Amino acid sequence: MKKTALLFAAGVLILNGALFGALSRQVVAYDIQARLLPETKTVEGHEILTWTNDSSNPVSELRFHLYMNAFRNNRSTFMKESGGSHRGFKVDEKNWGRITVRKIAVRDGADLTGAVSFVQPDDDNADDRTVMSVALPAPVEPQGKITLVIDFETKLPKVFARSGFVGDFFMVGQWFPKIGVLWNGAWNCHQYHASSEFFADYGAFRVAITAPERFVVGATGRRVGETKNADGTKTYVHVQEDVHDFAWTACPEFVEFREKFALAEPHVETEMILLVHRAHVAQKERYARALRNGLEFYSKSYGAYPYETITLVDPAPGGMGAGGMEYPTLFTADTTSYMPAGLRMPELVTIHEFGHGFWYGIVGSNEFEEAWLDEGINSYSEAKAMDKYYGADRSILDFPGLKIGEIPYQRMSVIGSGRFDPIVKFSWKYVSGSSYSSNVYQKASLMLQTLERRLGEDVMARIMKTYYERWKFRHPTTKDFVSVAEEVSGRDLAWFFGQVLSSPDRLDYGIIALKAPEIGDPEGVFDAKPADKAEKAARPAAPKQYRNEVLVGRFGEWIFPQEILVAFSDGSRVRETWDGRDRWKRFVYVKPVKVVSAEVDPGHKDLLDGNFTNNSMTLEPKRGAVTKYALGFVGWFQALLSLVSL
Ligand SMILES: [Zn+2]
Repeated sequence: MKKTALLFAAGVLILNGALFGALSRQVVAYDIQARLLPETKTVEGHEILTWTNDSSNPVSELRFHLYMNAFRNNRSTFMKESGGSHRGFKVDEKNWGRITVRKIAVRDGADLTGAVSFVQPDDDNADDRTVMSVALPAPVEPQGKITLVIDFETKLPKVFARSGFVGDFFMVGQWFPKIGVLWNGAWNCHQYHASSEFFADYGAFRVAITAPERFVVGATGRRVGETKNADGTKTYVHVQEDVHDFAWTACPEFVEFREKFALAEPHVETEMILLVHRAHVAQKERYARALRNGLEFYSKSYGAYPYETITLVDPAPGGMGAGGMEYPTLFTADTTSYMPAGLRMPELVTIHEFGHGFWYGIVGSNEFEEAWLDEGINSYSEAKAMDKYYGADRSILDFPGLKIGEIPYQRMSVIGSGRFDPIVKFSWKYVSGSSYSSNVYQKASLMLQTLERRLGEDVMARIMKTYYERWKFRHPTTKDFVSVAEEVSGRDLAWFFGQVLSSPDRLDYGIIALKAPEIGDPEGVFDAKPADKAEKAARPAAPKQYRNEVLVGRFGEWIFPQEILVAFSDGSRVRETWDGRDRWKRFVYVKPVKVVSAEVDPGHKDLLDGNFTNNSMTLEPKRGAVTKYALGFVGWFQALLSLVSL
């Protein structure tokens, strides 16, 4: 009892930000008691939320996400948009989910339960109950606080989209009434959509999770208490500051591994907690190694991992719908019981989801509105990490005779898809789920890879570090990223970002034709008298001359300045530049030697170029069938990866 009281006091201190120097503006402080009732797949919750009005206007309405209501019936916006399936997993219509707010009141004040209504800011779908509006009896003044007490019950769906249960495995995310973000003077509190993730303010969490003793429990943050209760349950208290969400998991079949991770430069000290399902325990070391790699790569590239724990959750067999999802200091990985070493799926998912701890967790962009800022930047980072630790030519697939690196894989994912939408767009407004993902993940990643090759690795590394440093624990937008890139590189990049971020068009330059006809003797009528046969025969034979022509074309709509490398039969080379504006450009060389080959973008900088096969041409054409062969395998790997949320 005494211990609990002490812990509670510590919790209060933490919530007040008095114990630790806060890294973020702590707009929210949640103190939640959650009880898992495994038989009914339900969580009973008691939430005390203190919210600060960090704006300059009084606020008389609060908005909350009730994400779990996305799974309430088949008329919710999520269900209508998704048709009841997510990444290939289908809803179980016998196991709907929902969240019910039983009571909401101002602490020591008015009961607001009657002042609650459901609003649909995105689509006016009256059946959608994923956003709750609460009218306040009196406004919260600027920099004022309000504390609410909320009783709720969350019924978990059979997991198919991130959160839910399968058997005794519970992944509890998007599970509590969560206040929206008051941003630029208005509530930014979107509904739960099929293609979109989340957005919330930073703050402090203290969550006490009670579950039957046989369950192994994992959660966001560090564990500060573990108490056995008389009724055969245990209560685990977790606290974490400077995060914007809290998730937890419980399963009797988890095997828990704990391992310290430390790095000297930058200074990192954290504890890796791996909750690996018994069925996948043989793969524990693959997960652990990938997580160590992620911790090292992201800390060195962007900034020291700042939290004391990082928890990897390996979903139970049948729970793949929960896999590949990020939460602060906790993420879900994914594997299957048979996973050949050369198929890097557990590694890729681990590094990607861990990486979201930086791009989403620490740099808190709005995933509803500009998903590329988390998914695209993270796919770019993840590809660099995968290439570094697993080999650039084999970071995705590594089998004898079949190796594929992540960047070619990303290129192949973009080719032929995503042509109807740009990278920046509200997540639920894409023509399809695959248009959303190929744009915000792969195309955005290739955009950054292209930028890196054009600006140089050092400049790009400084851009990323500066963006991270300036925007950590804040809410940046696309504009903020672009202005960091321009400031650090010292260049006007409007031409680049303007095209790539906001138009659905395509980049494709190539060689249209190569010609090298010999220039013969003048024939026909000239003002000067032509030499007669005898004169010609008397002269020494002039060396042959060729009119070499290189015709370069722009096949896509985007205009990128180009370099062209032209090679001649004597080994000489000419490097040309072209502003890339017209649809074609001809280069002519009259020389005693023939052109052998020409290539646009010889440094392979423009990874966004939609077709590399037309980039170069030789006078004697050669053919290769490798691309087609590789594409077949990539399609198969893509299908496998598409099963997880990432
Ligand atoms: Zn992701």
